[in-house]
Amino acid sequence: MSESGQRLGDLIDDYCPRCRLLLNHAIASMVERQVVKVICQTCYSEHAYQHGQGGKKKSHPRATLFDQVLAKVTPTEQNAPAGPADAKKKPAEHARYITRHKGKTPHPKS
Ligand SMILES: [Zn+2]
Repeated sequence: MSESGQRLGDLIDDYCPRCRLLLNHAIASMVERQVVKVICQTCYSEHAYQHGQGGKKKSHPRATLFDQVLAKVTPTEQNAPAGPADAKKKPAEHARYITRHKGKTPHPKS
C-alpha cells in the first residue's frame, strides 16, 4: 500500500468531487494508516479519500471487479458442451498422499 507512511496533514493527490479534478489534498483523517478523509486544497471541502479515482459511481469496487470476473466466467460455463453434469461431481475416491522422507528410501535395492 502506498498509503503507508503518510500522516495527517500530508499533501496527497486525490480526486475532488467538487472540483472534479485530481488536485492536492491534505489528509484530514486516517484509520489504521489508511487515508479516510482528505481536504481539497483548492476548494477546501472535506470528502472521503477517493484513492485518486473519481467520477465513476462505484460503491463497491471489489464487488464490481468480482462481477467483471463473473461475467467473463459465466458465459463460458453456459457455452460449454452439454455433457453429463453428474460425471464431474464424482468425487475423487481418495486423496493420494505423497509422503517423502528425506534420506529414507522406501525400497532399497539389495
Ligand atoms: Zn476541490
